[in-house]
Amino acid sequence: MHAPTQAQLLDLWDAGSRATPSGRAALLLQSAWADATVAQWPLGVANARLLELRAALFGPTWDCVADCPACAQVAEVRLDVAAMLTAAPGTDPAQTPAWHTIDESPATPRFRLPVLADLTSAAPADASSAARLLQAIVTAPALQSNDAALVDLPPHTRTAIEQELLRLDPLAAIDIVMDCPACGHRWRAAADIIGMLWADLSTLAQRLLGDVARLASVFGWSEQQILALSPVRRQHYLDMVREW
Ligand SMILES: [Zn+2]
Repeated sequence: MHAPTQAQLLDLWDAGSRATPSGRAALLLQSAWADATVAQWPLGVANARLLELRAALFGPTWDCVADCPACAQVAEVRLDVAAMLTAAPGTDPAQTPAWHTIDESPATPRFRLPVLADLTSAAPADASSAARLLQAIVTAPALQSNDAALVDLPPHTRTAIEQELLRLDPLAAIDIVMDCPACGHRWRAAADIIGMLWADLSTLAQRLLGDVARLASVFGWSEQQILALSPVRRQHYLDMVREW
C-alpha cells in the first residue's frame, strides 16, 4: 500500500466529491493500491483495504458515533481497526474460486462474490439495488461462463446464497455493537466504512484548505507550495501566524 500524501488526499477528496460512495471507495483504493485491479476486489476485501488505509492515514483506533434508537442520545464506540482485520480470514481474492454453489446439484444456480465494480456500475440509491446486486452475481446452472444470466431464485435458495456470501466474504458487511451510555440499550449497527472514512477525509480536507488560505494570505505562497511543506513545518508556520 502507498498511503496518499496530504496533497493527493486533497485531490482525491475533490475528485470524489460528486461520486457515489462506491465510486469514492474505488478512487481511494486505486490511489493506495495503484497496481491492483481494485474494481474486481470482493466487497469484503475492499472493506478490509479501506480499514487498512484508514489506519495508515488516521491511526489504528476509530471513534464512531451513532444515535441510540431507543432514546436518541449519542452513543460512542472506539473501534480497534487491527482487531477488525484479524477477524476476517481468507480475504485474499486470489485464493477464492470465481464461482461457488450452495450444493452439489447440477440444477442449482452458481454465484460469485460481489465485487466493487458491481456497485460502481449500479445506479446509486436504487431501492432494489440489493436485489439487482444478487441478480448480477448469480448465473444459471447450465452457464459456465463469467456472464451472469437472469435467474429466478426461490426464496430458500436466495437465503442460502446470502448466507454463503457472508461466510465466504465476512467483511462485506460489518456490524458494530453499540451501547447507549444513557439508557443501556445495546444494538448492532451496520458500519458504513467508506461513509465514515470519507467523513474523516472531508474534515482533513477542510482543515488543509483553511491552513492553505491562512498561509497564502500571509506569505503569498501557492497551494502547491504550502501542501509540499511537511506537516510539522506547516504547523510551525501556522503557529507563527497565530502569534502575530
Ligand atoms: Zn439510549
